Amino acid sequence: MNTKEHPKAIIVIFGATGDLAKRKLFPSIYRLVQNNKIAKDFAVVGVARRSWTNEEFRSNVKESIQASMKTHPELDEFASHFHYHPFDVTNPSSYLELNGMLTDLDGIYHTSGNRIFYLAMAPEFFGTIALNLKKEGLTATDGWSRLVIEKPFGHDLPSARKLNHEIREAFTEDQIYRIDHYLGKEMVQNIEVIRFANAIFEPLWNNRYISNIQITSSEVLGVEDRGRYYENSGALRDMVQNHMLQMVALLAMEPPIKLTTDEIRSEKVKVLRALRPLAEDEVAENFIRGQYDLGTVSEKTLPSYRDENNVDELSMTETYVAGKLLIDNFRWAGVPIYIRTGKRMSVKSTKIVVQFKDIPMNLYYNRKETMHPNLLVIHIQPDEGVTLQLNAQKLGDGTYGKPIPLNHCNNSIDGINTPEAYEKLIYDCMRGDATNFTHWDEVALSWSYVDPISKAWEHEKAELAKYPSGSMGPKEADQLLEKDGAQWWPISDHFE
Ligand code: NAP
Repeated sequence: MNTKEHPKAIIVIFGATGDLAKRKLFPSIYRLVQNNKIAKDFAVVGVARRSWTNEEFRSNVKESIQASMKTHPELDEFASHFHYHPFDVTNPSSYLELNGMLTDLDGIYHTSGNRIFYLAMAPEFFGTIALNLKKEGLTATDGWSRLVIEKPFGHDLPSARKLNHEIREAFTEDQIYRIDHYLGKEMVQNIEVIRFANAIFEPLWNNRYISNIQITSSEVLGVEDRGRYYENSGALRDMVQNHMLQMVALLAMEPPIKLTTDEIRSEKVKVLRALRPLAEDEVAENFIRGQYDLGTVSEKTLPSYRDENNVDELSMTETYVAGKLLIDNFRWAGVPIYIRTGKRMSVKSTKIVVQFKDIPMNLYYNRKETMHPNLLVIHIQPDEGVTLQLNAQKLGDGTYGKPIPLNHCNNSIDGINTPEAYEKLIYDCMRGDATNFTHWDEVALSWSYVDPISKAWEHEKAELAKYPSGSMGPKEADQLLEKDGAQWWPISDHFE
């Protein structure tokens, strides 16, 4: 591809002095330019209230690149494309000035009127910004305009609907890119490839051969300095409504007729529609909420969630969720999908384990040994890869099988703060590919599933199970699987 064909646009970042911009967005844009993915002729305009100059903004950009990358050639040249425009987004008159600035930059950088408005700010501002962008003519250019929105998209279905209504006043659905950064992860994108490019899996990918699926996303860190945000969110809204349900949809969807955005999304939507809804009084039986307690990790005593900054000392906010989901369709009827996610757990890991049913008769195991099921493990982070656990003959006395893992590890530059997913997503947005962003229908269906669970918890219809910091969660989450004769497969932070 020659440079002329590279996507080009002005990226306007609302909330450009914030954490997300510094840790994820600036390094991602840098890598896209360095890797020659987007045109060298690009511009970024930062908006926030702080009265920074262009120079101050640029040095913040440079710091962010220096902190996240070992080498950083052409950094001054890169930073010179960044411009800062201080204003309060609730002030409508400032949008006119911003428009003038964008028009000037468009002339300088030849960006053809293409604009990305990236809202890296608290969601209460999303509607105001979108409306003002339209009202003051910032979206009326000769090129395209796209709106990128960070999570959380509402805190329940009514608030998400209200927000969606506000942004739809100004942007059409195909101009809206709702970020779920899990969808930018290499191995999440690979779920579809593993499923649909391998003849050996598709015939087995159903309730005749799969016993259960387990999705774990565990963090070692606690709530850190995000207590205020987290108190209003909790693990259900922060992780389950978006990332976990997106992984469920990708694992359970039917093969799309084509790999287009609309076809893939429409198959994911069908899965979300087929999730068996839970009535409030069924929640306790199927979902466990937990909260981390005191615990010792590497000989250090860590505080309980209730002792963290900006957390209520009687907080009922869940830092852990485990749940059993059922999908009522022909392919999945009767196959439980177990999910769990939490903070302050013993390992940082996101993994999917697909457990196949046992063979009908066990010829190879002596009576003392239990059967080893075949497992397909998709390692999402920090390791990236796939393991297929088979049984093979154990050398020595007698003939009996032994589990052997076939591993493929993509590893991976992935670290805690990898901007990799954001890099892919910004690139997709520049190219107008919305496949790895969430459509409104997915957001709405996810909230419909999750809302009765949060209501049941608000109405205290389920216990809050405490778990020690540094453990894999409360014992109630183990019992959830034991009731079905299943168990969580062990998760470690490295390739097994
Ligand atoms: P943050 O650090 O608090 O940054 C908020 C930004 O908004 C700052 O630049 C702030 O700058 C600006 N701002 C606040 N009020 C403003 C106003 N009235 N007018 C103009 N600018 C205003 O937040 P963040 O962590 O970057 O998160 C931003 C969004 O991304 C949130 O929706 C969050 O949920 C989401 N998100 C963040 C992360 C992450 O890793 N940080 C991950 C996933 C999603 P001034 O104070 O200078 O105005």
